[in-house]
Amino acid sequence: MSAAEAVSTPSAPSYRSLSLWWDTLPAGLAGPGRGPLGGDTDADVAIVGAGYTGLWTAYYLAKADPTLRIVIVERETAGFGASGRNGGWCSALFPASWDKIARGSSRSEAIRMQRAMFGAVDETGRVAEAEKLDVHWAKGGTLGLARSATQEARARAEIEHARSWGFGADDYRWLSATEVAEHAVSTEVRGGTFTPHTAAIHPARLARGLAHTVERLGVRIFEQTAALALEPGVVRTPHGVVRAERVIRATEGYTPSLPGYRRAVVPVYSLMLATEPLPASFWDVVGWGGHETITDGRHLYIYAMRTEDDRIALGGRGAPYHFNSKVSEEYEQVPRVHAVLERTLKQLFPAAKDARITHRWGGSVAIPRDWFPSVGLDKGRGYAWAGGYVGDGVAASNLAGRTLADLITGADTEIVRLPWVNHLSPKWEPEPLRWLGIRTSLAVFASADRKEQKTGKPARRAEVMQKILPV
Ligand SMILES: Cc1cc2nc3c(=O)[nH]c(=O)nc-3n(C[C@H](O)[C@H](O)[C@H](O)COP(=O)(O)OP(=O)(O)OC[C@H]3O[C@@H](n4cnc5c(N)ncnc54)[C@H](O)[C@@H]3O)c2cc1C
Repeated sequence: MSAAEAVSTPSAPSYRSLSLWWDTLPAGLAGPGRGPLGGDTDADVAIVGAGYTGLWTAYYLAKADPTLRIVIVERETAGFGASGRNGGWCSALFPASWDKIARGSSRSEAIRMQRAMFGAVDETGRVAEAEKLDVHWAKGGTLGLARSATQEARARAEIEHARSWGFGADDYRWLSATEVAEHAVSTEVRGGTFTPHTAAIHPARLARGLAHTVERLGVRIFEQTAALALEPGVVRTPHGVVRAERVIRATEGYTPSLPGYRRAVVPVYSLMLATEPLPASFWDVVGWGGHETITDGRHLYIYAMRTEDDRIALGGRGAPYHFNSKVSEEYEQVPRVHAVLERTLKQLFPAAKDARITHRWGGSVAIPRDWFPSVGLDKGRGYAWAGGYVGDGVAASNLAGRTLADLITGADTEIVRLPWVNHLSPKWEPEPLRWLGIRTSLAVFASADRKEQKTGKPARRAEVMQKILPV
């Protein structure tokens, strides 16, 4: 077969069971799948991975230069990875602290990075609207509940810290328990933090909608096409070779399976569940009318949102890391962790105690050794990449896509000089050190949360671990 034509796949697999989000996609967005690469082809830009990173990059490149020949190769289907499974927080969270960013650049650059993240949230909403992607956009901000004295102390310190960096109450503020309850009613709340810079979205609608949008702009997406190796100017797949001047890696949690990238990031699982749609009587008690995204101050991070169809979707860390950075479907179901998440949901919102849990799923997030996401272009090799977002890639991938487009087209913009551009994270330790370190870290955080809940005192071991290996 001649190059560039995708072959049709009449028996494309169904991905509905991947997450609540996939299960609630309208038929037109859920499928049918696209065919694989049908032989060798040439392009100007070859992108590996059709998650947000690959799709945003293709979007901004195609907008900037409609003559560019852009190809995306995707092992499964667009939105198969974290982009179709996440917690729906389109947030301005950036995993590296301002202090850490400033150490590698300057105070003003760290602030510029944070402001660029605020902007990425709004830019995501702007494009979703402009391209008529019905992503259930609800910009209600984030509430960080303080549910113990220790959590309150940490949360208040966070606000003070934000002030010391020049961020005012419009960006981060402390809310009293009464003010928190005006947003949403939960248990044991002593107050909380609030930032307006987060929107709740339907993540798979964004990923799948973007895929259709970039195709309309002329981008060719080949699914069921795994990149076997990335080489300068070449992406090798079982179905042929894509030759392109620029090759972009956008594979996030799956990166360690590519030759040469085993220790670039570690995949750590985040697991989620969702309730059935809850009745008006529940929302009358709880409020949550602004669709705020909600977390609390525990060490093993949790995140919750109210979906457009009135479910609660809640997720958290705590699933085991697997030796040699292995990623597998079987790791997405961990009954012990899903049970903890269900208990947490019902502790936070006792009025949901009889709610049926309709969906349980999971996916991997990619953690760089220094917790510093990056985006970059190695002009000599024609190789570009973006990722390592930890669990915060929804808005960051938009900024990454715009940045990659500017780097590739040579546009001299403010964003190509942000401190994460061309940042190189150190490699992770070889096994078994990696396994031992990450498992220990996860265990310390879990036991710290139990201890803090029981004694009300901060667990010092967790604070130390937070500095060494904050998975
Ligand atoms: C359960 C969960 C909850 C999360 N919650 C949030 C949240 O609320 N807010 C937030 O900001 N972030 C969250 N994240 C993280 C966020 O979803 C990711 O950072 C983001 O989706 C990353 O997008 P991506 O395109 O880089 O990666 P992905 O969406 O994972 O896309 C990578 C793609 O590459 C493909 N691929 C991999 N290897 C190959 C290969 N060899 N050849 C071809 N294709 C390949 C994969 O199939 C996949 O489709 C969460 C993640 C998970 C798992």
